[in-house]
Amino acid sequence: MKYVLKRVIEKPFIYCENNLIINVNNEFVKLTGYSKEELIGKSLIELSDLLKIYSKICFENIKNEYYIFTKEYLAREVIISCINSKDENEKIYYFKEIRNSRIEKRLPYILQFTNDNVAGVAIFSMPEGILLRANEKYIKFWCDKKTEYENILGKPLEKILSGFNGSNLEKVIKEIFRTGKSFYSAGGNNEYLKKDDSCYDISLLPVRISGKDKYLVHTTCDITENVLHSELIEEQEEELKAIIENMSDGLHIIDKDYNLSLINSSAKNSFYKHGSIKTLEDVLEHTKYFDSDGIPLTLDNFPEVNVLMGERLKEYRITSNRPDGVFHFNVSGSPVYDKNGNVVKAIMCTRDVTERVKKDELIRMNKEQLESIIENMSDALVLFDKDGNITKVNKSARKSVFRFAEGKKMNDHFNHAKIYDMNFKEILKENSAISRILKGEKLSRYQTIVQVGDNLTYTEANGNPIYDKKSNFVGGVLVVYDITDRIKSEQTLLLKTQYNLLSRIIEDLDVGFARFSYPDFRIIDFNQKYFNQLKLINPKLDSPASMKGKDPFGIFIFDEKSEVLQNIQNLIEKRGDSYVTNRKFIMDGEERFFRIIRQPLFGLNNQVIEVIQIAIDITEEVTAKNKMEETLRMQEEIFSNISHELKTPLNVIFSTNQLMELYFKNNCIEGNKEKVSKSINIIKQNCYRFTKLINNIVDVSKIDSGFFELNLSNENIVNITEDIVQSISEYIEGKGLSIIFDTNVEEKTIACDPDKIERIILNLVSNAIKFSNPEGQILVNVFDKGEFVEIIVEDTGIGIESKHLNNIFERFHQVDKSLSRNAEGSGIGLSLVKSIVEMHGGSISVKSQVNKGSTFKVVLPGVIVEETKKLEKSTGMNNKIEMINIEFSDIYLR
Ligand code: ADP
Repeated sequence: MKYVLKRVIEKPFIYCENNLIINVNNEFVKLTGYSKEELIGKSLIELSDLLKIYSKICFENIKNEYYIFTKEYLAREVIISCINSKDENEKIYYFKEIRNSRIEKRLPYILQFTNDNVAGVAIFSMPEGILLRANEKYIKFWCDKKTEYENILGKPLEKILSGFNGSNLEKVIKEIFRTGKSFYSAGGNNEYLKKDDSCYDISLLPVRISGKDKYLVHTTCDITENVLHSELIEEQEEELKAIIENMSDGLHIIDKDYNLSLINSSAKNSFYKHGSIKTLEDVLEHTKYFDSDGIPLTLDNFPEVNVLMGERLKEYRITSNRPDGVFHFNVSGSPVYDKNGNVVKAIMCTRDVTERVKKDELIRMNKEQLESIIENMSDALVLFDKDGNITKVNKSARKSVFRFAEGKKMNDHFNHAKIYDMNFKEILKENSAISRILKGEKLSRYQTIVQVGDNLTYTEANGNPIYDKKSNFVGGVLVVYDITDRIKSEQTLLLKTQYNLLSRIIEDLDVGFARFSYPDFRIIDFNQKYFNQLKLINPKLDSPASMKGKDPFGIFIFDEKSEVLQNIQNLIEKRGDSYVTNRKFIMDGEERFFRIIRQPLFGLNNQVIEVIQIAIDITEEVTAKNKMEETLRMQEEIFSNISHELKTPLNVIFSTNQLMELYFKNNCIEGNKEKVSKSINIIKQNCYRFTKLINNIVDVSKIDSGFFELNLSNENIVNITEDIVQSISEYIEGKGLSIIFDTNVEEKTIACDPDKIERIILNLVSNAIKFSNPEGQILVNVFDKGEFVEIIVEDTGIGIESKHLNNIFERFHQVDKSLSRNAEGSGIGLSLVKSIVEMHGGSISVKSQVNKGSTFKVVLPGVIVEETKKLEKSTGMNNKIEMINIEFSDIYLR
């Protein structure tokens, strides 16, 4: 069943079950004018009553054409067909209207005539003789009083016309049905009528369509009035002529032979070459006429001819296409009858409406043009009513980011877009352009940013509320322009200006600056500083110009490409931070440190437009930091290493002190004088040890932090060495050791710091004593080797295992860390000696054999300095002894 319904969906139909209408389609409703409610539930019998189907359809056996009548009483000729469904009780009846069958179409003039109600007119179907249409006058003439039009429609002649059966009229009509010939009876004859108090004509005119008599037009014309009118015209013709001549409307009279008369001047103007016009044929000779639908008018269907046939015309639009132009006229016309009721003339009235038509045409064209301009203009135009419903939009508005569309609600675009003001502050629905106009506000250059997804569009809007004549608010208009390009170019310009300024600043800056495109990552630009830095890393680098557009990896960026891209990607996601790395380069053979900062630059749509890179030379900071760290580390090391050394002399001092206190308390100092004196020496000795330790720590710290300074002067190195050896020879011999000084020159002047040289020698000799066997020998030699001087300290002591030889100059390196060693020491001495020697531009080395002895050789350059002021010898004799005491303090007292 469903399938059938679908297939015939365009044709009017009713759907019945058990002869009751269950459903009708819209087409059926359209055809009949009855609503579904009026139709559904009706039986088929009731339906044929409603549709005034005369020969009640035997719905079981449908064939042929039927006349049905709409709710508006209009006859429609239809073919009814029936389709049975599987279920016998279900049926569909199709009502297919026969094409071009409407009498409105087939008999327009007659219908006009009927509607004018001047004469009584009825149209019957042939051959059935069913009433299809009748006017009031006809019903009055022919039917019983109180006859209702709706009750006679669709009924046959004999049931409508009172006294029809057996009348002359019946005979005449039967004859017409048989022969198809028309019948006419002019005025005054009453043999066909029941009424006899008027002058009337009867005409019965069969209308043939496609060779078949299809309609019978029955006209009954009360001509009493017409006769009187024509008499009046004759009487007053002269008077009328004057009036007619001066009428602005054209007026002419045409007789049955198509001769024109009484053509007033306006009418003359409506004809081409009016001087030669005498007949209707003349009118048509040079001019083509068309009706309002553009259908050509010939002599047969010319308005004048129709009026001569008895038709009345009112404002019938014709267009005349004359050699001198196109003119438009509204034609009205009335037939003029003679005493016998025959049409003898037609009075035609023509009004030149050319100007109006042209104006209308112009207005229509202008309107169309305007509409097409509006439709096609690049600005989006939106009209909305007072409730904010969008009533009209143009193409641009439909295509705009707002996606305006007729029928949508205002602010519907908030469903897919976010709106911001130019400061990127979100605009809420209640403050939207349309909302504001609805509140009566006028908008001018109202700028917003519209975000759809990731896309930003800049818009500018103008808008007005619209009021009617009574100042009632009726709606509004909004015009929106896309200003994205303008804003972008303004921003680009601004950016460019700012960028140029920035570039100039950057060019002068003392940091390397480079720009890379994104995402293809190519070199866009860099400053001279950057190029200079790179040139130091890679001297083969091309000219700056040739580097632009190249891949920066290996030139500007030395990090792993994938890692850099990943980092940039992370930054883009986070937005804002920079990517910082520190790198070490060898530039011009020198180690230099750089902080590299990379930063993506975001464009208007949040996309990255380029990546900038800054390289800051942080070598000094790094070196200072490293130094600081080293110093701290050293200091930590010193203190952890020497804590024992600090404690030892302190403990000794403490315990000796306690012993003396005991003697003192017990009053037995006198008896223990020797012991007390020894204790005093022990305290003294340990105080020296303390001093040595502290001196060494201070010096090491000074060296580490760069504050250890040499006071260079030109001195006789032979003397200095000999003097110090002499000063300690007594002490050494007191220890059962011998010391020998030897030299190959008497005098050798070199630039040195005498105090520091003494420290060197004392240190080396102190070690030689410490690690000598009893009765050992110590040799101190100074050799002038021309360009340099050698100072050699040699002993015959325990020697040093070869595995330690490389390390003994390292700080805190001690060969024997056991407590049973024969001397104290902190492991600082040799490292200090090495530093001082190197500060003099010299070097120190050692040779040793276990149990045979060790030889330390200091080599100092034989140079001299330009002295500004001869420094006083800083170390006096007393000082020297003090210094020896200090330097030798960690040798065990024997
Ligand atoms: P310390 O204060 O411990 O003597 P040094 O730096 O002067 O520290 O010496 C480091 C180490 O080198 C000593 O502990 C010792 O083991 C070894 N050393 C130095 N001089 C000699 C030497 N003349 N004979 C043998 N060993 C020596």
